[in-house]
Amino acid sequence: MERSFAKEIESLRLGDGDTFRGEGILAVTKALLQSGVSYVGGYQGAPVSHLIDVLVQSQDILDDLGIHLETCTNEASAAALLGASINYPARGCVTWKAIVGTNVASDALSNLASAGVVGGALIVVGEDYGEGASVIQERSHAYAMKSSMWLLDPRPDLTTITNSVEHGFALSEISNTPVMLELRIRACHVTGEFPAKANVAAKVSRNSRLPGPSAFNYDHLAHPPATFMQEKLKLEQRLPAARKYILDHGLNEVMPGDLNDVGIIVQGGLYNALNRALMNLGLADAFGQSRVPTLVLNVTYPLVPEQISAFCASKRAVLMVEEGSPDYIEQAIHAILRKADLNTRLHGKGMLPEAGEYTIEALTRGLLAFIKAEQPQIDVSTAEAVFGSALENRKTAQALIGPTLPQRPPTFCTGCPERPVFTAIKLAEREIGKVHIAADIGCHALATFAPFSVGHSILGYGMSLASAAGVGPLMNKRSLAIMGDGGFWHNGVLSGVASALFNRGDGVLVIMQNGYTSATGVQYIPSSAGNRVDGQPSGSDIESTLKALGVQWVRRLRSYGLKDMTASLKEALTTARKGLKVIIAEGECQLARQRRLRSDETRALKAGERVLRTRFGIDDAVCTGDHSCIRLSGCPSLTIKPNPDPLRTDPVASVNSGCVGCGHCGEVAHAAVLCPSFYRTEIVHNPTLWDRLNDRFHRAVIGWLGGGRNPAAQPVAGE
Ligand code: SF4
Ligand code: SF4
Repeated sequence: MERSFAKEIESLRLGDGDTFRGEGILAVTKALLQSGVSYVGGYQGAPVSHLIDVLVQSQDILDDLGIHLETCTNEASAAALLGASINYPARGCVTWKAIVGTNVASDALSNLASAGVVGGALIVVGEDYGEGASVIQERSHAYAMKSSMWLLDPRPDLTTITNSVEHGFALSEISNTPVMLELRIRACHVTGEFPAKANVAAKVSRNSRLPGPSAFNYDHLAHPPATFMQEKLKLEQRLPAARKYILDHGLNEVMPGDLNDVGIIVQGGLYNALNRALMNLGLADAFGQSRVPTLVLNVTYPLVPEQISAFCASKRAVLMVEEGSPDYIEQAIHAILRKADLNTRLHGKGMLPEAGEYTIEALTRGLLAFIKAEQPQIDVSTAEAVFGSALENRKTAQALIGPTLPQRPPTFCTGCPERPVFTAIKLAEREIGKVHIAADIGCHALATFAPFSVGHSILGYGMSLASAAGVGPLMNKRSLAIMGDGGFWHNGVLSGVASALFNRGDGVLVIMQNGYTSATGVQYIPSSAGNRVDGQPSGSDIESTLKALGVQWVRRLRSYGLKDMTASLKEALTTARKGLKVIIAEGECQLARQRRLRSDETRALKAGERVLRTRFGIDDAVCTGDHSCIRLSGCPSLTIKPNPDPLRTDPVASVNSGCVGCGHCGEVAHAAVLCPSFYRTEIVHNPTLWDRLNDRFHRAVIGWLGGGRNPAAQPVAGE
């Protein structure tokens, strides 16, 4: 990938007595190295991409420790990687983004959890839930319960998070069960410090290999009849062993408080937000000293019934703070209290929202209700008034700005190579009419926002072609599926392309070949020009893969070539030829390209070398102000400004300084026959003698044509 993690990598070398400072997810990376891990892998996705990104660039550290790194093509292959821990005493860790990644991995996870492990198996799940999430609002909790895997949800504190990694491996080994370490967005990005330890080389590693395979053991296969015995083991041996470890090692924490007849039980990941909400009511300080005793569940599955009952036994009422729906923990605690014959009142959903992220606002509301109901002697009226007035202020501010501020939907980066393809789709649809468009996961999903508003459904990563398979035969026009090259390798090659060929599908597929999985932070994929380790291509190519599978109609086009792209789309959607038609739209991710160019340009400028930059502009005098260019392009560099002509009132289009000169404007103006107002400018830094002479000549000619004015007197751009 293009971003350098050189600074972060240095912190992975810290040893005993050093202090690690940084983000939660990087602390996890360091904790893995301290835990004697033998192999790591995963599939990138927010908020855990950095875990693999950093390790990819730390190959020398991994080599020293003999750790194998596998950058998997999807989460299923990452989960299957943990199969190494079924038979061998090797600790392994994989990571992905949930809930989507856990969905993809679920088959392998079920098999892994049933067979059980002898080496510690840890899954770092980036729980992308709540505000800022980009996926369906579901939780990994259900997967942990149904497959009998343990779920850690550490409070967002670097020492607790890193301890959870080390305990996670030990817990996995002692109970022969894979462990999921759930890290919410805020836990991944929380910053802090923890006392570092020296990295530990695993007993089994690339540098210390196993002499041979383990003896055949049918019981290590998740196959009947072994599965019947494994189900019993889960309940009769693994679960009690896990509960004992959780209790013996104090994985859950009891935070004391003086209001002893009430208490709060909270998922560890929500602890910081809860403490902030308690502060709002004057019931805690910024350092976690709370008046309400709190049981922090750094392990949310399994619960330890005796620990829950012991905490609740002396309390009249307890508030369960469990984000999301269904309320698995709250229901389980109800059952624990009944079985223990305890009459402690349990509050939770109702006082707190049934679903959605437990923001500090939501928690403050819930706590207010709890304290008023169960501790009426505590005066929260001042806090309530302050909270109420903050909400009123927000309403007032919303009323003031609401009607005037337009929504700002996310959009493609400036100069993105995927934008022109959607312009081409709009232009093609002008002629052939609207078609059903199956969208997909990836940057191209940004086309579902204005000005494109394209995409009838999104069914998962790499699933667009499969999702169009049922629609196509029911329509009198062909359907169009959009897929990224990341989605193609993740899933689309089989679930979409192979399936379409097998079923004689007649749809059209556009594959955006930008060279990376850009939406997750620009990681390499099998068809990238560079490979993660040595910078060399891996040899996988989308076009030859399609042809090898049997796709007969394939076009490989420059994504910025609007005219050819529009023509090919029209042909693919209307040709009498049956069968799957695939257009590969090629254009490097502009974000990755600009990162590379910027550092190259900075180096060249410092060295006094000639650097050429291209920008587009719009001639105010020619622009008619109809803004078709903006509607067809959507580039954030295209904006409007007041019309300088006093006789015209419509604002004219304008290109701001963010333009990266991708050329899409010119293509749109030309292909859509919009207007001749676009011009291209070349900005030369450190011009050569030839540049200067050339420039003076052009200015002289222009001056002569302009009636004698001498623009040659102006400095050369970049001088
Ligand atoms: S990250 Fe790359 S592919 Fe994604 S919107 Fe930006 S330029 Fe386009
Ligand atoms: S050339 Fe046009 S579309 Fe491309 S970056 Fe510049 S303003 Fe945006």
